[in-house]
Amino acid sequence: MAYAFFIDTTLCTGCRGCQVACKQWHDLPAEETRNRGTYQNPADLSFTTYKLVRMSEEIIDKRLKWLFFPEQCRHCIDAPCLEAADDESAIYKDDATGAILYTAVTAELDADSIIESCPYNVPRKAADGTLAKCDMCNDRIHNGEAPACVKTCPTGAMQFGQRDKMVAMAKSRLGKIRSKYPKAILADPDEVNVIYLVGHAPELYFENVLASSRPSGITRQMALKRMLRPFTRAVNHIIST
Ligand code: SF4
Ligand code: SF4
Repeated sequence: MAYAFFIDTTLCTGCRGCQVACKQWHDLPAEETRNRGTYQNPADLSFTTYKLVRMSEEIIDKRLKWLFFPEQCRHCIDAPCLEAADDESAIYKDDATGAILYTAVTAELDADSIIESCPYNVPRKAADGTLAKCDMCNDRIHNGEAPACVKTCPTGAMQFGQRDKMVAMAKSRLGKIRSKYPKAILADPDEVNVIYLVGHAPELYFENVLASSRPSGITRQMALKRMLRPFTRAVNHIIST
């Protein structure tokens, strides 16, 4: 069964409960931060920050607005990072949940090409090249619990459940808020299992709300590598025997 998140950013107050809950569940250390003149901290996702509530200040209809975007891996349906890795011991999909999962074997991959493949610029690497990102709280899901971020959200901005129900919820909510937010859209709902609803133009939140805003995906180099894969495997097999 495929699961999905529905994240309604129009209900997000930027409390950062989801960001903290993610750290707690994964036992990740806090980051040293500094005052950068914004309420967003830390500045970016990292090897130890899988969930980040992005914040921007915008003048919309002559009024100052705070826009929040609780960013995380989208668990793409056809994940470019998985495709780029081509190594199921490093990056694989849990077919029972739809989660795209990274292991310590990612240290043996070309980290930069995996990062480049992601249309949302999500994976982050450690000093030794190991990659990390949101794992959908896959362990919690297998034990009948919602992801920690969803469980902690006090406003109902984050929802989680069977994908078809989340898609229906997202479409219904979009219809309901259109009069108040005429520019509202769902971000890439057919491609991902983390479906965001944004009330304003996507680029006002940050640069990677939509996959199309990043010139990435499968690069020419990766496509060539994929084409040559059977030949490479045959050569490796001959060398190893
Ligand atoms: S958002 Fe990026 S890291 Fe997450 S599954 Fe998609 S390609 Fe992979
Ligand atoms: S817990 Fe909910 S309301 Fe708070 S920042 Fe996260 S998504 Fe927004």
